[in-house]
Amino acid sequence: MGPPGAGKGTQGELLARRLGIPRYSTGDILRQALRERTPMGLAAKRFMRAGELVPDDVMLGIIGEVLASEESANGFLLDGFPRTVAQAEGLRRTLEEMGLGLDAVVNLTVPDDVIMHRLSTRGRKDDLAKTIRRRLEVYRAQTKPVLDWYADAGVRILAIEGVGDIEEIQQQILGCLAL
Ligand code: ADP
Repeated sequence: MGPPGAGKGTQGELLARRLGIPRYSTGDILRQALRERTPMGLAAKRFMRAGELVPDDVMLGIIGEVLASEESANGFLLDGFPRTVAQAEGLRRTLEEMGLGLDAVVNLTVPDDVIMHRLSTRGRKDDLAKTIRRRLEVYRAQTKPVLDWYADAGVRILAIEGVGDIEEIQQQILGCLAL
């Protein structure tokens, strides 16, 4: 977890490769659906372009599908999900039904000014200054509470500073996971 531009994708890819497990990025899945012009992709488009969250039922549908796939059987990494308490609750139900639980939540922290700089130089379609500000607001209002929810649920949260050398950040995540 972490605000937009925290490096979830970068760190998530490295981590999934090291652990030999699949990584599911809900942002990537939605962008792929949009490129393929599927009904889900087309329905998600206006939310993504506005910096808003795609509705929870759509997101829970996506997660239900990926978790049911064969390659998730030995573990998986979720990137960009859950982003609301309702999504976290839905995920818990799905995992319970599968007899699974979460080992840890990795929370990447990055100051706002660094985020604004990173995103405004990245150039994705939802990286316009106005949209970035909205995504940060949405993150604070809807996603940050998910961390408290996990803390209350007794799930291990690894707080990692997401500023600095990419490989050093990765080593910190691996180190904390191994403890
Ligand atoms: P970032 O972390 O840089 O904001 P993502 O690639 O994770 O970008 O997500 C891009 C957009 O996709 C979000 O702004 C949102 O509109 C949508 N999205 C991704 N994951 C979710 C989710 N779990 N719930 C709702 N919307 C999502």
